[in-house]
Amino acid sequence: MRVRYRLKIKGVVQGVGFRPTLYKYAIEHEAAGYVKNSSEGVIAEIEGDEESINALLYKIENCPPKLARIDRIDIEPIKPLFENEFKILSSKKDGSKSTPISADISVCDRCLSEMRDPANRRYLYPFINCTDCGPRYTITHTVPYDRPNTSMASFKMCKECEKEYKDPSSRRYHAQPIACDKCGPQTILKAKGLTLKGHEAIKECANLLAEGKIVAIKGIGGFHLMCNASKTESVKLLRERKKRASKPFAVMVKNLQMAKSLATISQIEEDLLTSKERPIVLLKKSSKELEGIAPQIDIIGIMLPYTPLHYLLFDYIDFPLVATSANISEEPIIFTYEELAQKLAGVVDAVLDHNREIVNACDDSVAHIVENRVQWLRVARGIAPVTIPLSFKSDKKILAVGANQKNSIAIAFDHQIVASAHIGDLGSLEAMGYFERTINTFGKFYNFKPDSLAHDKHPNYATTKWALNYLKNIEKHSVQHHYAHMLAVMAEHSETGNTLSFVWDGTGYGDDGTIWGGEVLIGDTKSFKRVAHLRPFKLLGGDRAVKEPRRAALALLFELYRLKEILEMDNPTTRAFKKSEIKALHQAWSKGLNSPKTTSIGRVFDAIASLAGICQIASYEGESGLKIETAAALKGKINAVIDVKDDQIIDWEPLVRSIVENRESSPALALIEGLADTIKRISDKYDDTPIALCGGVFQNRTLLSAVIKRVKGRTLLLPKKMPVNDGSISLGQLWFTLHNID
Ligand code: ZN
Ligand code: ZN
Ligand code: FE
Repeated sequence: MRVRYRLKIKGVVQGVGFRPTLYKYAIEHEAAGYVKNSSEGVIAEIEGDEESINALLYKIENCPPKLARIDRIDIEPIKPLFENEFKILSSKKDGSKSTPISADISVCDRCLSEMRDPANRRYLYPFINCTDCGPRYTITHTVPYDRPNTSMASFKMCKECEKEYKDPSSRRYHAQPIACDKCGPQTILKAKGLTLKGHEAIKECANLLAEGKIVAIKGIGGFHLMCNASKTESVKLLRERKKRASKPFAVMVKNLQMAKSLATISQIEEDLLTSKERPIVLLKKSSKELEGIAPQIDIIGIMLPYTPLHYLLFDYIDFPLVATSANISEEPIIFTYEELAQKLAGVVDAVLDHNREIVNACDDSVAHIVENRVQWLRVARGIAPVTIPLSFKSDKKILAVGANQKNSIAIAFDHQIVASAHIGDLGSLEAMGYFERTINTFGKFYNFKPDSLAHDKHPNYATTKWALNYLKNIEKHSVQHHYAHMLAVMAEHSETGNTLSFVWDGTGYGDDGTIWGGEVLIGDTKSFKRVAHLRPFKLLGGDRAVKEPRRAALALLFELYRLKEILEMDNPTTRAFKKSEIKALHQAWSKGLNSPKTTSIGRVFDAIASLAGICQIASYEGESGLKIETAAALKGKINAVIDVKDDQIIDWEPLVRSIVENRESSPALALIEGLADTIKRISDKYDDTPIALCGGVFQNRTLLSAVIKRVKGRTLLLPKKMPVNDGSISLGQLWFTLHNID
């Protein structure tokens, strides 16, 4: 029997070679009809003998192109037209835009081998790409994803490229960034008194790196600052020029073998490292060689090359490269030569630039493996924008503006949620600019104008202020920070019912106006109850205490001992202060001057790091956590416990006393084991509720893995595609609003 079906295919289906694949399958199955892109996804009609059409459908559903992700297929039987040809139709614009845009993908093996083939016309061409690889999100102005809507619009295709572009049997059929040496982008090296183009630029860049120079290199989503990671002086110079004392740098290595010489790598870590997303993977250091890269911690962030340009560069290089985002500390990644020249002229010796414009900036993604699962710490290049399908339709268009640190935004409309790439800390005008640009980009990509806004409760967050000033007459929802953390994890699991959540982080504005961060919440998408929390203490000097772990430790000592006793103590914390400072801080503490109350577990990590003598003044965010993790690897006998008073108050007193009285051989391990026990103890009270773990504290691998082992057998909800830290606050805000909108 002859049948004809109309298919509507949604998901990541554009710019990934979907139409030529479907064309190929249709020919194989002797089907007639057509396939085309629309702003709602891929539309196709397939006609032929029922049996072969069913086989074709099976093939489409089960063997989509490599980079595609099908979220749903609507199949509607229609009247056969008795055609005998299958066609690819060109895309037409229409009003509603909801097709997710694909993330940028690292260069594929086939392109790499063409680039290495002297007989190929793209031999040594650094911008080679195909429908399976290359830039996407970062070069796109608007949808549909077609060349005129990308920064490739300014390059006119040569005859040969055009032929491949139009040939459905070519692997570059409608590869929008298609290019060759004749017609495409070119590299250019700019150094003092020197300008080189093409392959010479790459060669000379490699020379400069070998000599120890610092070079800014334009990648997919912005510039990296690179230098020879095995040259101590180069790394030191970069630290001096960038004023970055000890914050770890990521490194890019030539290949897996080089990665293995620097770190211990399991099979699953290797898979992540070599995945097409090519994230920075945090790995256990195996060599003391690159101590300056990540001082005093046993973790190193490694990534493999991901653009053809990186591969060409490594042809001349046999050492690892520092690869850190080019920016001024805490500002967003720089993605234009102009801004680079203006801001980092004093930092770099040369710039390896190219003329394919970056439209949307994007950092590198960061992940690690804990108990054989991937945990994302930063979601950006290769992954973002992240689409999460909804099992219901949202009639409203909702924008969630996220937190103030590690900011991301997220939107919901129709059947999906889309979360942005990591935007970062919103402490500068540049960052706010990036935040607003991302909202505008999403507006264009998805024809999105919010009917409703969601934001944090913190009155001083830049995002809260922005939300309150934006479009006065639309509905706004404010969502408590830790509740949003919990909701984000629930959203990823499509969970709406009761969840027991341990939300542990550095800082968030609590419902009682104090600084929360050691919360145990039970709730659903409608409301939550705070069933337990950390025993509160005062933060000496407010924000200053965040930068100085010794202040958190002193605050705990003030809670437990008299001033006279503390002045007589001799431990790493008291040694980190002058006696007069301790007295002055004690006075401020007893009067409650500039010392807000907190229940933050992040600050307890600080305190223990100080008492253990491993971090007194932090030079980057998260330093004490990383050092605690490193120190916890030194096993020791544990005496202390963390108490849970009345099942409600998580009490650090026994632990602190035990450390001060020298009864702990590994204070770091005692902290981690104590916290894991606490989670086990509290979870046992609520034995049929799913457990969620969220907040930046759970970036600590040792803690997360200890908890996973203790709650085996229970339903454990952990973030899947989104970060465990504040990067997913926007998603949580969205999940709340989706279920509470009028
Ligand atoms: Zn390719
Ligand atoms: Zn060409
Ligand atoms: Fe947080």
